[in-house]
Amino acid sequence: MRRLKGREALWTAAAVAVLGLACLAFGLLRCRSRRPSLSERCCVLITLDTCRADALGCYGSSMARTPNLDELAERGTLFERCLTPIPITLPAHCSLFTGKLPPEHGVRLNGRVLEEQAVTLAEIFSEAGIRTAAFVGSYACSSDFGLSQGFQVYDDPFLAGGEEEGGPVAERTCLDVNAAARRWISAQAEKPFFLWIHYFDPHAPHEAPLPYAAWFPDRLYDAEVAFVDKAVGQLLDAVVDKVGEKGLLVAVVGDHGEGLDDHNEKEHGHLLFDTTVRVPLILAGGDVPKGKRVAAQVRLVDLAPTVQEWLLDEVRLPSSGSSLRPLLPRNLLSRSGRGDAKGRSAYAETVWPYEKYGWSPGRRFSTQDWVLIMDPGPRLFHVESDPEQAADLSEERPEKTLELREALARAEREMTDSRTASAAGSAEGLKELGYVGMDRVGEGSAIPWTDDLPSPTDMIGVVRFERRGLAHKAGGRRERAREEFQRGLALDPTNLELLNELGLLHIEAGEYEQALPIFRRLDEAERDSCMGLINQGICLEALGDLEAARLAYARAVDKDPSSWRAWFNLSRLHLSLGDLDKAESALARARDRAPLGAPAIQDLERLIAEMESH
Ligand SMILES: [Zn+2]
Repeated sequence: MRRLKGREALWTAAAVAVLGLACLAFGLLRCRSRRPSLSERCCVLITLDTCRADALGCYGSSMARTPNLDELAERGTLFERCLTPIPITLPAHCSLFTGKLPPEHGVRLNGRVLEEQAVTLAEIFSEAGIRTAAFVGSYACSSDFGLSQGFQVYDDPFLAGGEEEGGPVAERTCLDVNAAARRWISAQAEKPFFLWIHYFDPHAPHEAPLPYAAWFPDRLYDAEVAFVDKAVGQLLDAVVDKVGEKGLLVAVVGDHGEGLDDHNEKEHGHLLFDTTVRVPLILAGGDVPKGKRVAAQVRLVDLAPTVQEWLLDEVRLPSSGSSLRPLLPRNLLSRSGRGDAKGRSAYAETVWPYEKYGWSPGRRFSTQDWVLIMDPGPRLFHVESDPEQAADLSEERPEKTLELREALARAEREMTDSRTASAAGSAEGLKELGYVGMDRVGEGSAIPWTDDLPSPTDMIGVVRFERRGLAHKAGGRRERAREEFQRGLALDPTNLELLNELGLLHIEAGEYEQALPIFRRLDEAERDSCMGLINQGICLEALGDLEAARLAYARAVDKDPSSWRAWFNLSRLHLSLGDLDKAESALARARDRAPLGAPAIQDLERLIAEMESH
């Protein structure tokens, strides 16, 4: 046998290596070809509004009747500890669709607007030629607030102002959402597509239909969850009937939980305990392993990159989350992902207590083992040994508390940096639109992260008095309403909401003299909102002192120039004083700042036009 000479030997070795690589590549291709091609993939993302993780059977509830979600968890992978960055509907959904945290996308309260410059999952998919559609269950997620960016179909048949203005339609049931979605699904002959379904039913008021209400006569929240479970099953059946299971990734996630009286919180938004921050997350279909559970802590913002990887094979939208795929337990022998991966640390916040009552806003930093809550805090809880978060260990474990405070500060610095970089060019445009600095909480810098405000965790009991007072007020029992508001104020003398409600009761009764000092107290308690001044103006008008009223409204627009109500009242007053020019210019400012096209503005416009024509 002829011996190969040096150069020849080299070439042969190279050829063998290339052949080997080719075989390997072919093997990989064969392996990959078992995955459906991109054009055969689709994703259904279901958000269960107000759903506590522990309200589902698959998360250990022995009372729940959630067979469809339990079965989905069996067919896929369940994440035992997923955290939302904010226990409020619209901001949480903004995080879900942008992959960014509230300080980064800027939507920290319901009723705000996700800026046009924000890039959403639906935009990324639309640009990639993937059909996108959304069917939402509540006005809180209406297209008025910018979540519709990138969706070719956005089904939100709600009237502007619905809930707040006592309008007829602010939400619809999960079965009505399904009815609309099924018409769209039945028209889908092909993939790829991205479908978002939003079920709002478990949100208060808890009013489930039969038979669900009969199953849980004393626990209507669980009845609502059971109702939604039924809808999930019905919807997924419709999707599978139409497009089959091949290539279909299903993601089910909660936007936040519900207090259900734990920690004295009935609903959500004020406190940052696991009751409202921990949410269910189930992935199924696609290439997700079946019947697995992942114990590693994950975050709502991790979903955006995960879904992109399925529909695009890459992540195009930069985010604060990272894909969940590395956490999926591939080892067939291990039933649980427990210990397979490190948990991801998670930021959460709420500024709603400050916005609504003048209490401290809250921030939270969670690792796999520890939760730090600053409201103003600090409060420290151990995850495994104290799942109820009943024992604050911050004094017992000062070094751990300090470590987490520093980690929270680092996380916040990173967010501020990225926000400054991305928003530098957009702030002026947003100001033009009137979106910056509305109400009490505008940009991050306006939020008082100080420790001299009352803690919502300590004050939350006051909400009970507010609730009872409002119920008496709605029932026409003014005197009893007043008693409840005063009881609340005895505990929390600068409570913005209670001062306002008490003052409004006096206005309703025509007691303007009594209302005035209460609105003065409100004005002093409000740092940068002007409701106290506006209501003083209304009282002064009623008492016939138009010049004093004009001064009150002028001070109101000075204190909060973004308040359309302040400009509106100033315009009205100028009109009463016969100054058409000033009335018109103030109305123009009100119009620019009113986000929902308030009908009152149109009425005033007509009035001014009529007066001008005379
Ligand atoms: Zn919600």
